[in-house]
Amino acid sequence: MVLLNPLRLDRPYPDERSAEVMRRTVEFFEAKGLAQVKEDDRAAVWYRDFLEFAREERLFATMCTRAGYGAPDGRWDTWRICEFAEILGFYGLPYWYTWQVSVLGLGPIWMSDNEAVKQETARLLEKGGIFAYGLSEKAHGADLYSTEMTMTPAGDGTWRANGRKYYIGNGNEAALVSTFAKMADTGEWCFFATDPTRPGYTCVQNVVHSQNFVAEYELADYVVRPEDILLRGDAAWDAALNTVNIGKFNLGWASIGICTHAFYEALHHAANRRLYGMAVTDFSHVKALFTDAYCRLAAMKLVALRTADYMRSASADDRRYLLYNPVVKMKVTTQGEDVINHMWDVIAAKGFEKDTYFEMAARDIRALPKLEGTVHVNIALIVKFMENYFFHPVALPPVPRRDDPADDEFLFNQGPARGLGKIRFHDFRPIFERFDLPNVRLFQEQTRALEQMLMLATPTKEQAADVDFLLALGEIFTLVVYAQLFLENAEIYGVEADLVDQVFDVLVRDFSRFAVILQGKPTTTAAQAEHCLQMIRRPVPDPERYGRVWQQVFALRDAYTMNP
Ligand SMILES: Cc1cc2nc3c(=O)[nH]c(=O)nc-3n(C[C@H](O)[C@H](O)[C@H](O)COP(=O)(O)OP(=O)(O)OC[C@H]3O[C@@H](n4cnc5c(N)ncnc54)[C@H](O)[C@@H]3O)c2cc1C
Repeated sequence: MVLLNPLRLDRPYPDERSAEVMRRTVEFFEAKGLAQVKEDDRAAVWYRDFLEFAREERLFATMCTRAGYGAPDGRWDTWRICEFAEILGFYGLPYWYTWQVSVLGLGPIWMSDNEAVKQETARLLEKGGIFAYGLSEKAHGADLYSTEMTMTPAGDGTWRANGRKYYIGNGNEAALVSTFAKMADTGEWCFFATDPTRPGYTCVQNVVHSQNFVAEYELADYVVRPEDILLRGDAAWDAALNTVNIGKFNLGWASIGICTHAFYEALHHAANRRLYGMAVTDFSHVKALFTDAYCRLAAMKLVALRTADYMRSASADDRRYLLYNPVVKMKVTTQGEDVINHMWDVIAAKGFEKDTYFEMAARDIRALPKLEGTVHVNIALIVKFMENYFFHPVALPPVPRRDDPADDEFLFNQGPARGLGKIRFHDFRPIFERFDLPNVRLFQEQTRALEQMLMLATPTKEQAADVDFLLALGEIFTLVVYAQLFLENAEIYGVEADLVDQVFDVLVRDFSRFAVILQGKPTTTAAQAEHCLQMIRRPVPDPERYGRVWQQVFALRDAYTMNP
């Protein structure tokens, strides 16, 4: 089975400790129970119990310490990080969030050459410390160039930092905060490790009402010593972007965890609810909604897993992950919204009840597309790769499934966040060829129509500068990359043909929908609109295949219920 079931943790790990981290985390939440999780959510209680447990069990020390800096079980291993993030999301986004912003805060530290801070960080992790990432400011969100936090030389080799940061998770209790600033004299960028217990640091407020503490903090003449500096100049700028590259991948896993728990709960409810003398799951539209939800969720997981392989295998010569990673960020998280929407249409009023997991999921699933770069920012990034992806493929070594116990060293040594136009990809076509299934074939035809449009009615310079047009085109391109990653993992995991074709039934419909949107954009030319019409296709129906997939879905109706 593709989906996580906490009652049957059967994912393979090369070491017992990794499996233990997952098992103990599940045990904590099952012992806490759904009622308490919900009560804490409603009361916006700071999750001290979870952080205390994580400290006792050394969860973050194992998961977030780079190899060589602490206990031998510590390594940055994206294979096991995937499941850890999935489990945290499964039980509640706040638990995931406090870990996630620690991941971000650790980014510039592990990327720096400041050995003393790195050693101290390993000690803090052992002691149960959490971390924070001070990048965003109130006035200018995604626009980092406008950073106002300033470091002014004091004349004695130190600096005085002044300014405020906004939306900074864990800013209330972090052991260290990685603060991004600009040097007043040279204009250089800088990351420095901020100790919230030192004079000059004030946690001003929590800007949200939630279990999360999303802080506004102020630095007023905060003394930055040379030994606090993590990175300067271009290296600091690159670390800001490269840290987001590492962190934003985890948002997909939060979505997958949330959707999986909500799926079990919604299906169980619908299968046991009787209307007009039949189960709700006997309605044909309900079967269709659950089947689509299941297909979307299975694809989300297989795509995110496959992307992890590319992230773990990345090198200066193979930066394909820079396309696949924003695809996970933008597409997996928005697919998560679709999954919840499908299921909420079925369970309707039940999804509002205060004692359900679903009520929380329906709210939290909305957050993930918006954080760490909005959908728009990520699509704008994705389209930069389109020309090389379609028209200049090269032979590159195939990337296997990466479940080995490696420390993902390259992620902390990604180099300049430039030169995206030079990144090349392997040809995506052969993996589609290897699946002789009706809806995969249809999707190939749609993709060929898109390629025809790009060649024969190439977007103009003006269109390339029109973000509204670009986003519509980017949705379609993203879908092709998403389908490629799904198929690569369907092959690796031996996913049965019925499910693969049913997933493509969904993808063919999505392709058509996006083609309609693109042809309707005001700046789309008549010739481009004609090509868009060629992309609209009707999926090949197969009642028997559909019936078999529905049976797989329905079989999960009693698979999991959280401890009350
Ligand atoms: C709960 C929560 C927790 C957070 N935690 C942290 C944290 O711990 N640390 C931290 O540093 N930050 C954190 N953030 C900040 C978060 O990353 C930003 O909200 C996010 O980057 C988007 O910025 P913004 O919301 O200010 O949108 P804006 O930057 O104001 O963007 C407005 C609009 O312009 C669009 N836009 C902007 N630039 C482009 C572009 N280049 N191309 C296309 N469209 C564009 C956006 O998509 C959006 O639609 C958090 C935010 C929240 C809400």
